[in-house]
Amino acid sequence: MIGTGYGGAVAALRLAQAGVDVHMVEMGMAWDTPGSDGKIFANTRTPDYRSYWLRTRTKQPLSNFLGFPLDKDVPRYTGILDAEEMGGIIVYQGRGVGGGSLVNGGMAVTPKRENFAAVLPSVAAAEMYDVYYPRANAGLGVGTVDPDWFETAACYQYARVGRKHAQRSGFPFVFVPDVYDWDYMEQEAAGTVPKSALDGEILYGNNHGKKSLQKTYLARAAATGRVSVSPLHKVTSVAPAAGGGYTVVIDQLDTGGNTTTTKTVTADRVFFAAGSVGTSKLLVKLKATGALPNLNSEVGKGWGENGNVMCGRANHLWDPTGAVQSSIPCSGIDNWAAGGAFAEVAPLPTGIETFASFYLSITKNPHRAQFTWNAAAGKVDLNWQTAWKQPSIDMAKTIFDKINAKEGTIYRTDLFGTYKIWGDHLTYHPLGGAVLNKATDNYGRLHGHPGLYVIDGALIPGNASVNPFVTITALAERNIETIIATDL
Ligand code: FAD
Repeated sequence: MIGTGYGGAVAALRLAQAGVDVHMVEMGMAWDTPGSDGKIFANTRTPDYRSYWLRTRTKQPLSNFLGFPLDKDVPRYTGILDAEEMGGIIVYQGRGVGGGSLVNGGMAVTPKRENFAAVLPSVAAAEMYDVYYPRANAGLGVGTVDPDWFETAACYQYARVGRKHAQRSGFPFVFVPDVYDWDYMEQEAAGTVPKSALDGEILYGNNHGKKSLQKTYLARAAATGRVSVSPLHKVTSVAPAAGGGYTVVIDQLDTGGNTTTTKTVTADRVFFAAGSVGTSKLLVKLKATGALPNLNSEVGKGWGENGNVMCGRANHLWDPTGAVQSSIPCSGIDNWAAGGAFAEVAPLPTGIETFASFYLSITKNPHRAQFTWNAAAGKVDLNWQTAWKQPSIDMAKTIFDKINAKEGTIYRTDLFGTYKIWGDHLTYHPLGGAVLNKATDNYGRLHGHPGLYVIDGALIPGNASVNPFVTITALAERNIETIIATDL
């Protein structure tokens, strides 16, 4: 298993339960040991060596505040958040045992059924909504904020302001489920437990409260006794082995990112679960360099950024959003059908009153990019174009232009640079690159090389209409069930 994110964790658990020994290889750290401050994870407000994957300077999604740049120097280290720059877009990804579940907001959203055909055209909606979405939601421990508590909790003042503004402009406001332990958050608010969501922890890990994969699928996988995990090990090659199966080449890394040892192992089957970017980069390289020559020409295609675009609005002084904001979003504005945008009402957990409303929109951006092998540079390129974010901005504007007009407010121009309204240079939701039923069959079996599978976000063709990890998990549950039943 290459990678320990959602797809990898589901596959490892189900294979182990079926009696198969699984070896998980993860390039990031284990994230199970506290640092000298007694904490495993760094706070969003004080990034340190733990925060970024092999960078000497932070690359914060919100790069500025009131015109001041926020980024600072940090020691180069195999930290938890990778800000990978390719094709004019910064693709944020989690690095470590648990993948994206270590760094994400935990927003666990099942797409509306009427949108599913566009998300995964080759998958029957009925089996997903009857079996695999419920299985994924249960396995992930998804829950929703208590609506009564929400009405009075100071830490969700920002979400209530978001609701008021959405509703005054006639937009549907929805509660969004999350894997954060909601009872724990209520205790944080009551002051009876150490704070995490209410102390601004999220982007570089949550020391408490969040049910990352380490606490759910991976814990259950470990309990089978059939799953081993090698952190700080990076797969660099997979090729058919002479006697059958596959030869996998793995670099062991130190915390400076240097290769200390190169190991070669043989596996009967290999699952690519390195995330949309990680899996796509590996497959494109291995096809182009002749290690896996029979992969088809769909490999590398169909990549999208889930239409992510961020923006902030400046509220009037009578609409404070709260000094202490839960870092876990719990709500959104659904204008998907009418305007192509689903906007989560996001926190700005600065610890001070900002009078700002902040949003991450997922939009129906139609553009898809392709990964290709750059032989001269010896690396994989992505041909995303900066200008391709314009449809996302236009779709987000269907919500926020209207709200601004109704409220007599303006966009913040200080969060992504100087006089820059749109956070259009980044994505949290890379999807595609080894699309289901194109690069693979309809269950993730790679064409051309029996025994190789894709089981992560690379299967989803660029857009999930909502935050993606529940769909990645549910699809993995669906595919592994068939793979176990027919291939093993
Ligand atoms: P990943 O979770 O990315 O796991 C892949 C793993 O493979 C990683 O651990 C990686 O280090 C490892 N790997 C990569 N290459 C190699 C290699 N060559 N060798 C060994 N290991 C390798 N989604 C939501 O649904 N809700 C949210 O609220 C949300 N918030 C987000 C916030 C942030 C800041 C970020 C970055 C993402 C967020 N996401 C959210 C997206 C979500 O986390 C991803 O969609 C999800 O993690 C992808 O799952 P995956 O299984 O495809 O891969």
